[in-house]
Amino acid sequence: MALEHLRSLLRIAVSFVHSRWCLRFSRREQLEAWQRRQLKRFLREVLPRAPRFRALEGLALDQLPYMDKKMLMEQFAACNTRGIELQPALEVALQAEQSRDFAPLLGEFTVGLSSGTSGHRGVFLVSAEERERWAGTLLAHTLPRALLKHLLPWQPPLRIAFFLRANSRLYTTLANRRIDFAFHDLLLGVDAALPVLEHQQPDVLVAPATVLRGLAEAKLAGRLQIAPHHLVSVAEVLEPIDADRIKQAFGCSAAQIYQASEGFLGYSCEQGNLHLNESHLFIETEWLDVEQHRFQPVITDFSRTTQTIVRYRLNDILRLAAQACPCGRAERTIEAIEGRADEVLWLPALDSGELRPLYPDLVRRALTTAAADIREWSVHQQGMTWRVGLLADAPEIAGAAVEQALNELFEQHGLRPARLQFGVWREPEVGAKRRRLLLEQRPEQTPCMS
Ligand SMILES: [Zn+2]
Repeated sequence: MALEHLRSLLRIAVSFVHSRWCLRFSRREQLEAWQRRQLKRFLREVLPRAPRFRALEGLALDQLPYMDKKMLMEQFAACNTRGIELQPALEVALQAEQSRDFAPLLGEFTVGLSSGTSGHRGVFLVSAEERERWAGTLLAHTLPRALLKHLLPWQPPLRIAFFLRANSRLYTTLANRRIDFAFHDLLLGVDAALPVLEHQQPDVLVAPATVLRGLAEAKLAGRLQIAPHHLVSVAEVLEPIDADRIKQAFGCSAAQIYQASEGFLGYSCEQGNLHLNESHLFIETEWLDVEQHRFQPVITDFSRTTQTIVRYRLNDILRLAAQACPCGRAERTIEAIEGRADEVLWLPALDSGELRPLYPDLVRRALTTAAADIREWSVHQQGMTWRVGLLADAPEIAGAAVEQALNELFEQHGLRPARLQFGVWREPEVGAKRRRLLLEQRPEQTPCMS
């Protein structure tokens, strides 16, 4: 047992060193050459072990079919290399979720469950080895240099507080003698965590953006006395409105980990810019606009060996930065994770009646700049009706300002204005993912009358 423990610590350490120093590419050609070698090995050695890809052996990556969550669930057993069926995996994951006991494993595998906002629940398998590599990579990408000294044996351990919706073995792996790690269950809410946090006094705080915001509010209100040196936002998009408040409370900006059950997709560097994790993933860009700014990523994870993620289309919309990051990393820089494909709102064009997209950042900007006192907002689209929820000191004045801002936005883009219905902003249920923007139903296409 002790030997096993040592081995797993060693694997974390190796992956940490490898990710932090060896996989740091400053030239794009170098990175691409590394990806080509890794893909070649992956296609030859790993993929043929999954039944789905056996018949496709020998094909190049761009000849392989696309994947998405729905397809992955339908052909679950064929898409992993260990012949694990969907039903037992799903049972383990659901049982863990319901009992809030995250110990159950399926053999040596962790089963991760992704909430299906679009109706499809996703189940993802991770082996013990992959888990340890993941922990090392996560630390390599998130720890600022100043905190590295904690990993030396004579230093006090690094204290990390982690907030997650559904924990699994994925996250508790990080606990050992060098790291004092506390896991907080999101379903218990922010208030329940306050005494534990004060007791632990974490150096590093890792949580979804909404929770960091909640903790920031608690600190500003004098209900929480902690002084973490490093904040990491995970699982949700960190919006400027939250980022500002978090910085105000803790005196430092939150770094971002862009991670989903599908994989570790990106991280923010010391310059605060988000980079795609291209040293572990090959990412194809499916462009959403002619200017080639926005795209849906199609990922192939050549570092996984259990669950195959090959040409897998994510539901996210990313916006590429116009300039290279001053940190010098060759991995592409993302200006923003604009949101998910179901956060794009649609309205008919005035001239043709054809539906046109309004991307999340446009609507977000209109809402957050309309009035200074807007503390929270949401816009849910149901056909031509947009239900706008607002939390502001003077809701009526804010409502009028938002109405004007949105109508200007519609006009600028030559769109038929939506019917705006104002209401009070409601807090999402505890543990639920926040959806500030949500397309519930697209409007009908309205053909041109003239
Ligand atoms: Zn950078």
